[in-house]
Amino acid sequence: MMSSTAPPSVPSKRRPLSVVIPVFNEESVLPLLFERLYPVLDALDTDYEVVFVDDGSRDRSPGLLRAQYQRRPAHTRVLYLRTNAGQHAAILAGFGACSGQRVVTLDADLQNPPEEIPKLLAAMDAGHDYVGSIRRQRVGDPWWRDQSSRFMNRVRERITRISMTDQGCMLRAYDRPIVEAVAAADEPSTFIPALAYLYAANPTEVRVEHAERAAGASKYSLFKLIHLNFDLMTGFSLMPLQVFSVAGISIACLSFLFVFYLALRRLIIGPEVEGVFTLFGILFFLIGVLLLGIGLLGEYIGRIFEQSRGRPIYLIREQLEPQALNPDAGADADTDTDTDTDTDANAAAASVSGAA
Ligand code: UDP
Ligand code: MG
Repeated sequence: MMSSTAPPSVPSKRRPLSVVIPVFNEESVLPLLFERLYPVLDALDTDYEVVFVDDGSRDRSPGLLRAQYQRRPAHTRVLYLRTNAGQHAAILAGFGACSGQRVVTLDADLQNPPEEIPKLLAAMDAGHDYVGSIRRQRVGDPWWRDQSSRFMNRVRERITRISMTDQGCMLRAYDRPIVEAVAAADEPSTFIPALAYLYAANPTEVRVEHAERAAGASKYSLFKLIHLNFDLMTGFSLMPLQVFSVAGISIACLSFLFVFYLALRRLIIGPEVEGVFTLFGILFFLIGVLLLGIGLLGEYIGRIFEQSRGRPIYLIREQLEPQALNPDAGADADTDTDTDTDTDANAAAASVSGAA
């Protein structure tokens, strides 16, 4: 099922490397990101594109991205989403638009240092088609984030066959076929690193540095985190449902024994009303379990509902990129620095294309 949005336009020329970065209200950190990211990529000695996906920012981010595009039109593309679709939907949009043979995802907030990108690429050179990353130390996250994400990692590893040491780290590299599979899956609520893991033939993980958010505040609330983890559980495993079936069977067997025992007792000792509260205790517990089970069922049904509506996951408002008709004009114009000629500015001005 494809969404009914006009898909982002993809340049005909394939590049060796795309870097996809979701951006949501990151005005305070973007200048620093540009400053650190581009030199790393320039030093790689391959042609590359950076695909910024503006996830409906309401601050100065859209303008900053436009300015950066004008500075480096040959290596920069910007996708503006109409509304805030969420980090993973933004990455999906980026996957749809990018042309790279390899695709690296990165957070805008510099928690994943761009300087680690070559490390990921080296792992790909060694033959891996998916390179995850493990944060060397987690800095600047509140303790409950750290503890709860450790716990969720363990649970997830038990119930899905996805083994990611560090699910929260978005600095990852994917090979083209995986990116295409993820983009084609078109799932409304998905966790991209996990989905990609399912398609990877030879995944690996590397250790990367991790810094405090360079500026601005986290866009994730506790509620969003819980939601994300539900996505991971129910999106990649039926085990929660199966646990309930098994629990149901065991409880049914136990209560059968219990009733049998009560009947015997009634015959031998006579009727009793003591122990009623114990019975209530058991009952309330079972009702709790039952409600949890219903909630869980609802979670799955909700996902089916979401998927079956087939609403577009994201809407593209505008796309900035080197002129499609004349790929070389943009592609080779700015091989060097930020202080570039008018050729670039012209290319930039001419190629603002509204999508849809
Ligand atoms: N992000 C996004 N849309 C959202 C929330 C976040 O595109 O609705 C981007 C955000 O700009 C950043 C990345 O996703 O580049 C990770 O967000 P954040 O740093 O707030 O998450 P955390 O590091 O706290 O998990
Ligand atoms: Mg962050």
